[in-house]
Amino acid sequence: MYGELFCEDIEPDYSLYPQYPAAYGFLTRGCIRRCRWCIVPEKEGGIRPYRDIETVLQGRKTAVLMDNNVLASNHGLKQLEKIIDLKCKVDFNQGLDSRLVTEEVAKMLSKIKWLRYIRFACDTASAIEPLLSATEKLNRYGVKNYRIFVYVLVREIEDANMRCRMLKRLGITPFAQPYRDFNANTEPALQQKRFARYVNHKAIFNSIDWEDYRG
Ligand code: SF4
Repeated sequence: MYGELFCEDIEPDYSLYPQYPAAYGFLTRGCIRRCRWCIVPEKEGGIRPYRDIETVLQGRKTAVLMDNNVLASNHGLKQLEKIIDLKCKVDFNQGLDSRLVTEEVAKMLSKIKWLRYIRFACDTASAIEPLLSATEKLNRYGVKNYRIFVYVLVREIEDANMRCRMLKRLGITPFAQPYRDFNANTEPALQQKRFARYVNHKAIFNSIDWEDYRG
């Protein structure tokens, strides 16, 4: 009698949180990759178009978008063009895939009005090279490194520390995330949590090395 109704099709009641001006939503779902630590491919499958930015915005001027790999989708790239035309402010809070930042994409990203940061991930040592290639392209289009934020997966502390120190030297903001094994349902190790506290407390991270941290 009421047809099929998806709860995600119902407009969120933003009046409940008047202090938050942003709209929340997705433009795409899924991801083209299968990183072994990530639950997205299992939960969402491959990349597919999902929403139009104007549907998400509901007349608002800012949007927090939770796409997992918007750059991997033609629909996602068209939405980025629309975001530029609409002059709305956005945050892709799950990060962008640095491997997909071509010259053309970097130019497009440089034209977007960002809520605060352009976010990427550097989850392993092999992610450093594509990340640096992406940030160099962005630099060429006028995006400074302090506008860039990078999620850092923490498994081996030494390896994560190397990535965080490299980001600090470049003036890029790292955010450490201790590895959580969803299959085994285990908590991150204490030392991984301790390292994340150190990195994510910027006053401490910017003043001392991990080796001197006593927290
Ligand atoms: S690219 Fe990101 S979303 Fe996609 S599988 Fe890897 S970690 Fe998950």
